[in-house]
Amino acid sequence: VPTVPIYGIPFSKMSMDETVSYLTEAIEQKRQTHVITANPIMVMSAVESQDYYKMMRKAELIVPDGAGVVWAANYVGTPVTERVTGFDLLHRLMQEGEKRRWTAYLLGTSQEVIEAAAEKLQLQYPQVRIVGYRDGYFGPDQDAEVVEAIRQAAPDLLFVARGAETQEPWIAKYKKQLGVPFIMGVGGSFDIVAG
Ligand code: UDP
Repeated sequence: VPTVPIYGIPFSKMSMDETVSYLTEAIEQKRQTHVITANPIMVMSAVESQDYYKMMRKAELIVPDGAGVVWAANYVGTPVTERVTGFDLLHRLMQEGEKRRWTAYLLGTSQEVIEAAAEKLQLQYPQVRIVGYRDGYFGPDQDAEVVEAIRQAAPDLLFVARGAETQEPWIAKYKKQLGVPFIMGVGGSFDIVAG
């Protein structure tokens, strides 16, 4: 993947279409990819925290989510193609999943919101089986139980909405155990989907 470094973070230069093709192939081959849709706040977290920086560098793909990142890449003379947001990528991969009969697991937000989001996504993408969902308000003492439930459900896609400070380190910590091909933090996307 062609990248441009911003504060040492390698941002993908792929367009949205190229990103979707790249991920589709990875998912079909069960090659695990943790996608971070990084905005300037996350870049600043990486600048300020060595742990956050190291965590980000473990992600297989970092895409520019935010006009500030696109601007910065342009400014350093190696432009990225366009914004690739978590919300758009969620929908593009669900569309791809319709054709390929993928399964999905949704993790995060409140019980009420995640239930509504699961129902809406299932209606919109009937061929993508939602094999499980749960809320995002649990502590580290419940991590093992949550990871096991997802592992058992064995989805192709895992979307996690718990806020950038929590979701990305959580994914990085458990991705090997989860064994899910595609994992992405989607921040506030389920709130939007649920309406
Ligand atoms: N969230 C969650 N568990 C938490 C914290 C947040 O499930 O411990 C959810 C919250 O309900 C919201 C989403 O994560 O739907 C994004 O949260 P927020 O906007 O606070 O985080 P940000 O994206 O601003 O980092």
